[in-house]
Formats: sequence, structure tokens, C-alpha cells
Amino acid sequence: MKIDIVSVFPEYFDVMNLSLMGKAQDKGLLTITAHNLRDWTHDVHHSVDDTPVGGGAGMVMKPVVWAECLDELLGLEPGEVAATEVETETDETGDAAEAGTVPGNGVPAEPSSTDVPDAGDAHAPVLIFPNPSAPLFTQADATELAATDHLLFGCGRYEGYDARIPEYYRSRGIDVREYSIGDYVLNGGEVAASVMIEAITRLMPGFMGNSDSIVEESYTGANALLEHRQYTKPAEWRGIKVPDILLSGDHGKVDRYRRDEALERTNEIRPDLIAKLDCKALDKADRKT
Ligand code: SAM
Repeated sequence: MKIDIVSVFPEYFDVMNLSLMGKAQDKGLLTITAHNLRDWTHDVHHSVDDTPVGGGAGMVMKPVVWAECLDELLGLEPGEVAATEVETETDETGDAAEAGTVPGNGVPAEPSSTDVPDAGDAHAPVLIFPNPSAPLFTQADATELAATDHLLFGCGRYEGYDARIPEYYRSRGIDVREYSIGDYVLNGGEVAASVMIEAITRLMPGFMGNSDSIVEESYTGANALLEHRQYTKPAEWRGIKVPDILLSGDHGKVDRYRRDEALERTNEIRPDLIAKLDCKALDKADRKT
């Protein structure tokens, strides 16, 4: 799998060379390249942001810079008539106002049919923008994306990126996803992209030394539950004992105990997951739990 990441802080991704992710790269399973968005700027300040149109606090990432970068990384012909933006003027209140309409205004041109990758093709790139106001990224998304060949992450900063960027690439036939990693706001998309990359890549065939360890995990499978609790030796530690049944050597009873515990914990901590269970897929003993 090839992963490209675009960020104004590409150094954030130096840690991707560590641990299992580093080993996967050494084995040739994975190539991760972090690009600096500022490399696609042309002004002396390498600016990637501008004031919000309509006014308001903070700055928004400019579509023109992102488009140059993403066109190149996605191997697309530039779609704009000309690489100019709608010029904006900032009035004394700090509100940005449109000053005029010019041809080639940064708005998407008609999509070119030559750009469109085959839908559903595992080789087609998937463009992912971390975004706190997007649907939640789940284990099911990670599982799906682990089967793709090329992921490109665009990390937002400031108040986020211009909303036309994902819209534009969708119009060019690219599979564009926007995902939140949780109901909180981070400073930038780097940590969110790292979370998604780790969740996705560990599901790639060959990534884990022991592939069994990803089969029975929390949130995994059609009837996803939280995992049962785990213990190691010693059997008693600081007065707290491992449940006797786990020491019984009776694999059938151990499996049943773990399954019951998973159901009970899920019901207590994440009743929303219990509500999603397919009752037909539960066995009789599950129903008792
Ligand atoms: N103004 C935005 C809002 O209120 O929704 C927050 C922008 S945030 C400060 C800057 C960037 O961080 C976002 O564009 C996104 O890339 C990333 N980000 C922040 N929180 C995130 C989350 N929970 N999930 C995914 N990305 C997040």
C-alpha cells in the first residue's frame, strides 16, 4: 500500500518509521511519504491560508494551493481554466468580501472524463480529509480501506480547508472521504490521520506477525462487540485473582465465559453496539446473556 500525506507539519509523521509500521515499510508492504503543502506555494511567505469568506475568526486553507498539490499527487491534469483565485478584499471589520469575478476563478471546471478512475477499482486512490464535522471513522472503514492500494491524506489546520476541495475531487471521479476520529476538536489533521493510518495498516495482510490477533478484537466482525478483559500471569497479583475458569483448561468453557463477558461489557459500556447486533447471528447461549 502506498500512503501519501499532505501537511504543513510533515515532521509529525516521522514516528511512522517506528515499531510495526516501520517494519512493514522495511518489508516493502507499505510506503509512507509525508509532503509539505508549502512546497506547492509560489509566494515569498509560502502562505496556505486566507481569511474566511463571509467573515469570522481564524483562517481557512486555500483551494488553489491544495489543488496544485493534489493534482500532482493524484496524477490528474489541472482542471482549472487558469490558476487564479477569486480575489478577496478584507474590509476594516476583517470580513472578506468578493471583489470581482474573473475567469478561471478557482471553481471547478467541468470534469474531464480522462481523469476518472474506474469506480470500485482497488488501485484507484482514496483521498481522505480528517474533519471533526464529518461522519465518525470506524473499524469497518479501516477494514475496507486496508484493501486499497493508495491512500492520500490531506491534513487541515486553522479553521479547516475550503469546502470546495473535497467537492471538486469528487467531481473528478476521485473517491473522497471525510472522517472525524471523535467528538472533539484537535489543532490539525495530523494526529487524526495518524490514528486512521494505524487502524488501517494493521489490518493489511502480512502486517501483523500473528494475524489471529486481529480476528477477535473489539469492533471487529459483523456482530461487533467490545472485547472481553485480558489477563496474563501470575494467576494472583496483589490480592486480585484471575477468574478461575480461565485457569480450567476447558477451552469450551473459556470461550463461553469470554463471549458472555464481551456481551455484558458491551451492554454496559456501549449499548449502541448491542442495539446493532443481528439477532439471527446470536446463538442460544448468547440469548440467555
Ligand atoms: N473549525 C473546525 C470545526 O469547528 O469543526 C475545526 C478545525 S480544526 C482546528 C483544524 C483541522 O484539524 C481540521 O480541518 C481537521 O483536519 C483536523 N481535526 C480536528 N479535529 C478533528 C477530529 N476530531 N477528527 C478529524 N480531524 C480533526
